[in-house]
Amino acid sequence: MSRITTIAFDADDTLWHNENLFEEHHRKYCKLLAAYHDEETVERTLFRTEMRNLELYGYGVKSFTLSSIETAIELTKGSISAEELRNILDFGKNMLAHPVELLEGVEETIAALSQDYPLMLITKGDLRDQERKITKSGLAPYFKHIEVVSEKKREDYARLFRQHGLNPTKLLMVGNSLKSDILPILEQGGLGVHIPYHLTWEHERVATAPNENDNFHELASIKHLPALVAALTS
Ligand SMILES: [Mg+2]
Repeated sequence: MSRITTIAFDADDTLWHNENLFEEHHRKYCKLLAAYHDEETVERTLFRTEMRNLELYGYGVKSFTLSSIETAIELTKGSISAEELRNILDFGKNMLAHPVELLEGVEETIAALSQDYPLMLITKGDLRDQERKITKSGLAPYFKHIEVVSEKKREDYARLFRQHGLNPTKLLMVGNSLKSDILPILEQGGLGVHIPYHLTWEHERVATAPNENDNFHELASIKHLPALVAALTS
């Protein structure tokens, strides 16, 4: 019997570009606040606000926009203008309206693997925005299960696997975040394939990456995934 019965994928920065939009927001945001503070102070304060609000707001663009506004009020001691606040709201709205850009090789890889395996999409973030991106990506028909969750910790995955009757030791998860996509799966005896994106949000960074072993592999591109899956199951 095959070692792998289901292949699961993260979405943001695994199937389509995402962090590059945040990076662009950061650039425009720092420019907007340049009259008040240097870039390093703005970035540090924004990250602190985001972390403080994570429990209340969760992930996603809307939360990020609210934290950006809160940080701007704090850093300008309340003197930021309504016009400047509207600019920050517009940055967020532009991110939400941005077209979904698939990473290279994604469509072919997902289409090919879906012929042989049930595929699952597991993404965290704002429900409405994640649903919009899934629809616009055109990839939804390839997935047997699509799950948008608030967190991707070990217990969140365990709950999903129970709900879908999946054995985690026979599941392979593919993602760009070691912290959210790979480590919680390895801890449950599953297989993880890490495909790094060229940008990583500070919150998703881990101090040490696991060494490659039978259960953990790293690829430079999703294009190499079918060959790896074939090698793992031969
Ligand atoms: Mg991701």
